[in-house]
Amino acid sequence: QLSNRLIKVADYVPPGATVADIGSDHAYLPCYLCLQHAGTRAIAGEVNEGPFQSAKEQVARTGLSGRIDVRKGNGLEVIEPGEADVITIAGMGGSLITSILEEGKEKLEGVSRLVLQPNVAAEVIRAWLRANQWVLTAEEILEEDEKVYEILVAERGDDAGLYAGDVEKKLLLGPYLLKQKNEAFQKKWRHELTNWKRILDQQARATETEELRQRQKQLQNQINIVEEV
Ligand code: SAM
Repeated sequence: QLSNRLIKVADYVPPGATVADIGSDHAYLPCYLCLQHAGTRAIAGEVNEGPFQSAKEQVARTGLSGRIDVRKGNGLEVIEPGEADVITIAGMGGSLITSILEEGKEKLEGVSRLVLQPNVAAEVIRAWLRANQWVLTAEEILEEDEKVYEILVAERGDDAGLYAGDVEKKLLLGPYLLKQKNEAFQKKWRHELTNWKRILDQQARATETEELRQRQKQLQNQINIVEEV
């Protein structure tokens, strides 16, 4: 049984697409997608030997070797430009997901949708999408096993005022998630607030430097944004 987190990611992959799942680990997501729809094909990319072998075994066990190609390599280097319609990257930090997209920019040719599931730092991805002519089309936030996960879906285009009004707030919290403020959203940001306040308390006892002052200012700014929401 696939996790609810990956089922939600799968919901945003159109049936019949060719999807490249980067950092696929056991290739559970591409296997699920191909079992759901006979026209779906996939590439499962993995940089590490252990997960690469697990992906190959899982694909063979599921009888999907003809439709899922398991490839070993770093980020988007496992695909050729024009090969995939959809890219999924799930279960990593937002900074790593962003660096995979940035380093593999030329491989995004022909890709019409990105489905990204950062465990932390979704705001780094939103900022990258915005700066690289990808428009956020949907966001999800869900809780599973006491952890809160965000999913960002993007397509090519101009964000046409999506962040208008308060760019910083919307980048941090998510323009769509901010409208819903569901239970998982509230849980995540209540937890972050407690965490940030604890860090500020600890920093108050540290020796003052310009760098520390800047970090405190940024943290206080984020606290103000989240408290207001
Ligand atoms: N995507 C799966 C999920 O969401 O359940 C697996 C997530 S697992 C925590 C992250 C996987 O990404 C690991 O198997 C790791 O080896 C792989 N990974 C990390 N950096 C990578 C990179 N630059 N390129 C390809 N795979 C990477």
